[in-house]
Amino acid sequence: MSSLSLFAIPVKTGIRGANSSGNDLFVPRSLLRGSSFFLMTKNGRVAVFFDRDGTIIKEVGYLSRLEDMELLPGAGRAIRFLNQKGIMTVVVTNQSGVARGLFSEDLVRKVHERLQEALQKEGAFLNRIYYCPHHPEHGDERYRKNCFCRKPKTGMLKKAARDMNIDLSRSYLIGDTMKDVETAGNGGMKGIIVLSGYGKEEVKKIESRNPKKNPVYVASDLLMAVRWVTKDIGKGKNENSHR
Ligand SMILES: [Mg+2]
Repeated sequence: MSSLSLFAIPVKTGIRGANSSGNDLFVPRSLLRGSSFFLMTKNGRVAVFFDRDGTIIKEVGYLSRLEDMELLPGAGRAIRFLNQKGIMTVVVTNQSGVARGLFSEDLVRKVHERLQEALQKEGAFLNRIYYCPHHPEHGDERYRKNCFCRKPKTGMLKKAARDMNIDLSRSYLIGDTMKDVETAGNGGMKGIIVLSGYGKEEVKKIESRNPKKNPVYVASDLLMAVRWVTKDIGKGKNENSHR
């Protein structure tokens, strides 16, 4: 933990959540109580980024009905654990269902409100939620584009780093697909794969000859992933990143 330290940063107001182009979610100050400090390196805050579907909540294909939003077992506890340690918690999720016309951005925002409510019941919160509504081939002119935010590109990570002063080189991304792991590598972060969601199938894609594109850790679920992260923090930068 030599280059990491705790800085007291008073939280004056709530924190706004955002998509790639603007704000969409507000975490009230009351929820942030007990989290008035952040774990820092000399280059910024330490964060754990999460994929959403199959990682924090149940993978249901395209989540188009609010009532289908369901936290995975242990997810609330895992996020609360990070909240208590002053580690930023940020979701980065591709939601091309918007571009595909399967649901609206309004639905995505409502799902995220419901997600925060479900986490609140477990004493946990996400500092911000970023989503990419685009797709390179689907949708009208608003959504059909080769954007910079769609994973495995790093637009959402970079925006989060700017918005919240995050040191990506000392941060982590946990997801259930190799695309999430690739995103982590592209952002110079450590990538961890969980076996929930598509994870069990996705780990079959791990290549024995290409450690640079592989996860630094395979975890059965989010809680196990987070426990590993908190032990790993302070051990150094990601040597495997392929920036
Ligand atoms: Mg996923």
